[in-house]
Amino acid sequence: MPETITKPEEINWTELGAEFEAASTEEILVHALNELSHKGKILFLTAFGPEGCVLIAMLHKLVAEKRIEKNSFSIANLDTGYQFKETLELKEKLEEKYNFEIFLKQPALSVEKQDEKYGKDLFSTKPDDCCFMRKLVPLAELLSDKLAWITSIRREQTEHRAKAKAFEFDNKFKLGKINPLIKWTKSDIWKYIHENQVPYNPLLDQGYESIGCEPCTSHGSNRAASRWAGKDKIECGLHIQDHETEQGGEFVI
Ligand code: SF4
Repeated sequence: MPETITKPEEINWTELGAEFEAASTEEILVHALNELSHKGKILFLTAFGPEGCVLIAMLHKLVAEKRIEKNSFSIANLDTGYQFKETLELKEKLEEKYNFEIFLKQPALSVEKQDEKYGKDLFSTKPDDCCFMRKLVPLAELLSDKLAWITSIRREQTEHRAKAKAFEFDNKFKLGKINPLIKWTKSDIWKYIHENQVPYNPLLDQGYESIGCEPCTSHGSNRAASRWAGKDKIECGLHIQDHETEQGGEFVI
């Protein structure tokens, strides 16, 4: 992995975003992992949704075609302690099929310790606080030494994501954000999965549309219905900028 020699703020992400507005996903990845990776570390964060599985398959293809170097990026997952067993099994399947190592980043407190300290089932009483401790803090730690992170967000997923660019500066975490799948539709994703035999979470065939932590995921036909059902919450805060959200709670972890 390269040492960080360029600060994220020194790159003109807005200009890159405009330049790559019409680019394909492969062109975005090839540029990011050839031109930017020698300036600093690049992390692909995935929750193993269908989009993440597609990107892992595409990264593998680009490595196999020698269009990018395997060590030009790392892959990680936020292992909240609440993921479905099917999700963790999928992680192993993807590692085996595509020959990548995927780092599981865990929060400072186990679920049991969090229950002891903040009360049982915080996801039910204060989901924003639970997401803050189990996702946002670990993510901030993961990103602290990175030049940029790759995400698998798509514009059509939520109102917030509709504004995403291929390259942008992430004001929340203060690094570059690379979104190679912004223009893909849901049917593009499934077409790629089926045509390329990409492994995906079997729960998606059982009525789940968007899979996150087990206690906060239910059957539903879209992200809003599947995640945090019955609560006014559709994002865990990972992809919402500071001016768009209220960050609640102070925690000593
Ligand atoms: S999605 Fe639910 S269980 Fe997972 S971190 Fe957020 S509130 Fe906690």
